[in-house]
Amino acid sequence: MRDIILGIDLGTTNSAVGTVDSGFPILLANEDGKRIFPSAVWIGRNGEIEVGAAALRRRTIEPDRVITSIKRLIGRRADETEEHFPVAVATTSNGLPQVLGKSPEEISAEILRELKRIAEWRMGTTITKAVITVPAYFHDAQRAATKRAGELAGLEVVRILNEPTAAALAYGLDKLSEHSRVAVYDLGGGTFDLSILEMQDGVFQVLATHGDTRLGGDDLDALILRRVTERLGIDEIDSTSRVRLMEEAERVKRTLSENDTAVFRVPFYDGARSIEETITREDLETIAAPWIGRTLRHCRQALADAALTPEDLDAVVLVGGSTRIPAVRQAVADLFKREPDVSQHPDEAIALGATIQGGIMNGALRQIILLDVTPLSLGIETFGGLMNVLIPRNTTIPCKAGEMFTNAADGQTAMRVRVLQGEREMARDNWDLGDFNVGFAPAPKGQARMGVQFKIDENGILEVLARDVSTNTDTIVKLGNAAVNVDDEAVEAMVSESVEHAFTDIAERIFTEARLKAEELLPAVEAVLAQGLVRDDERVEIEAATAAVKTALTQGAATPLKTAVQRLDAATETLAARLVEQALDEALERGMNHQ
Ligand code: ADP
Ligand code: MG
Repeated sequence: MRDIILGIDLGTTNSAVGTVDSGFPILLANEDGKRIFPSAVWIGRNGEIEVGAAALRRRTIEPDRVITSIKRLIGRRADETEEHFPVAVATTSNGLPQVLGKSPEEISAEILRELKRIAEWRMGTTITKAVITVPAYFHDAQRAATKRAGELAGLEVVRILNEPTAAALAYGLDKLSEHSRVAVYDLGGGTFDLSILEMQDGVFQVLATHGDTRLGGDDLDALILRRVTERLGIDEIDSTSRVRLMEEAERVKRTLSENDTAVFRVPFYDGARSIEETITREDLETIAAPWIGRTLRHCRQALADAALTPEDLDAVVLVGGSTRIPAVRQAVADLFKREPDVSQHPDEAIALGATIQGGIMNGALRQIILLDVTPLSLGIETFGGLMNVLIPRNTTIPCKAGEMFTNAADGQTAMRVRVLQGEREMARDNWDLGDFNVGFAPAPKGQARMGVQFKIDENGILEVLARDVSTNTDTIVKLGNAAVNVDDEAVEAMVSESVEHAFTDIAERIFTEARLKAEELLPAVEAVLAQGLVRDDERVEIEAATAAVKTALTQGAATPLKTAVQRLDAATETLAARLVEQALDEALERGMNHQ
């Protein structure tokens, strides 16, 4: 058994953990069915600890013992940390910050320990390895401290991964070609960053990253609360009420991502007064506009730093819970002049990407590649311009298939192998993946033997092998992964075209096959008739059948030609058998004469 590697998003506001299970990256839910956990730690007076939602619940009773946003302190010196931290920050003798007697690493380790516990409980086994993500702008000390936090929690940190890179992995952007560029817009609870990545030698490099460590969903919660209190003329709120009101503001904000209105309702928030106030999505958008505007300024700055325009980007992805807000999505779409990819849950993407990275590192994800299938059929062109399928569409890769072919003419010494992809019956309607010539020893028509084999390996590389069977010489041509790397739209277009043309395509194939057969039969039949070896009753039928074939050939319709060819074939069958018998007799006679 390979060691499980966890993928962990250790976020400022929320954290998540995943692993590869049976070849698929999945996030793991806790006992409450939640896949995203608040990055909150409560430390009781006697050193007891609670993590996640349980810790947050204690905020109304003991707000000064609940630590959130510890990521803001990790790997920093006390004089580097920002003023507003929810809980008092002390400074140790060597200038490091400390909260409730613990270092930021130790507090982060509590969160990691909880994630490890959930994963071990879900997977039913001990787990000791993890990939942990950090913002692209984290400096060495912050990365090293994050690694130490993992070690304190009993995890060997096999990789510290940049968050935007993890996001790109989750969105499958690692399959983009060399030099593709991706913007990752990450708006979380308390931080914003925009990173521009470029694919170089198969890995993402950060070209630019810009942001604000004091800009996130929490600000919007505060703006919503301010709006409500201003409207109602409430000017003083104690810290305990504030916790409840902020929680309600957040709930209202989330509701407005899905609905047009929400009611801000907190009964007896200060023991006496209640709040009940309707807020519309329009209200929210007015409140949020300047807040969104601040993120856009950082986006423009990052583009300028990287000397790029929106048109230079190949993809834009959204990460962070706050990108669930429709107005945010719209603003990003407008700025980057393209629809952002929203195919993943934005608040789960980073943990998912870390999980994928872990799966790549321990080989657990190889199975996913094995489950890849050929998006379209692969084959070669044969006589008459027909498509001859060797590997049908939807075949699981890796795979291998082959067929024998022969020469179409006497003395032919080379054959062109034209590799095709597509669902159409005629070669000309499919896509050309490449062609090459193979030589073989001259032989009478239909006597040369040429084996053609297609092989697709686990990386999707197609290799075509052509073997001249008489001399056992092989020609091998590698065609890259074009056979597997086809974009979905092109595949859909090809498949729907094949359905649309199904009747005419099949008719053309039947006609072509019958014509090839007719072209083979007619000269042979004529030669035999000329030799006068045919009985009169046979001659009548053969001549009638021959005439039918010739008429059908000029008419160009598939079914009549096929029927006529079958009739001619049947008419000559007994003749052929008789001729073979006769030849055998003669040979035997000659043999006896030799004695
Ligand atoms: P972080 O990366 O900061 O740890 P997340 O990416 O989980 O955190 O983002 C948390 C933020 O996303 C919070 O401010 C939360 O209110 C916000 N959020 C989550 N879901 C929604 C939603 N449906 N609509 C609006 N905001 C949301
Ligand atoms: Mg985050």
